[in-house]
Amino acid sequence: MNIVIMGAPSCGKGIQAKLIEKKFGLEHISTGQILRDFIAKNNKESAKIKEIMSRGEFIVDSLMCKIVSLKLDEINDKGFILDGFPRTEKQTKFLLKHYSPDVVLYLHTDKDIALERCENRVVCPVCKKSYDKRLVSNLVCPDDGEILITREDDKPDVYLKRYKIFEKETKPILDLFKRYGKLEVIDNNGDIESTFNEISKILVNMR
Ligand code: AMP
Repeated sequence: MNIVIMGAPSCGKGIQAKLIEKKFGLEHISTGQILRDFIAKNNKESAKIKEIMSRGEFIVDSLMCKIVSLKLDEINDKGFILDGFPRTEKQTKFLLKHYSPDVVLYLHTDKDIALERCENRVVCPVCKKSYDKRLVSNLVCPDDGEILITREDDKPDVYLKRYKIFEKETKPILDLFKRYGKLEVIDNNGDIESTFNEISKILVNMR
């Protein structure tokens, strides 16, 4: 089973993707995380990527398609859950042509709720898990004791820019997937568990 998960920035795609990975035995591929790991290498190339990401802008389609195809070819026949790709029409056409997904899960989230999740999101710099800072004590990662940090691109002005770009570039893609009969819209305004229950119902019926 090959899945794409989509939604507004910081709506909780990554958390749901991790739960799907665990329950359905798929490979979670987060293009944002691949880019952040690359940035951590701290070389000339990664500095350019870092600059673009910290402005909340998109990395060019040709590079993103290359990254995704290398990753998807590497996992062979294991099903995937793609998180953060596609984000543009070009990326969508590339995906549909080469690695057609079985289903696209769109996590429908109100803007104020996504923004609130962003304001409270902290991440562990080591295991990369994200948390709601209202729910963790002392802002320390419960798994490895690291101090949790705020992502550079979650700062309010950058977030609003990312949201605008999402509405302009990414939301229109949903129509394309709808036309192919692949789109499932899930209400993501409640808690993590209720969204995951909805997702599970859809995926169990597809097995
Ligand atoms: P994410 O972790 O999915 O929120 O992605 C963080 C950032 O990585 C985005 O704001 C973009 O700058 C960059 N990025 C991730 N995936 C893509 C993509 N498919 N196309 C262009 N830029 C991307």
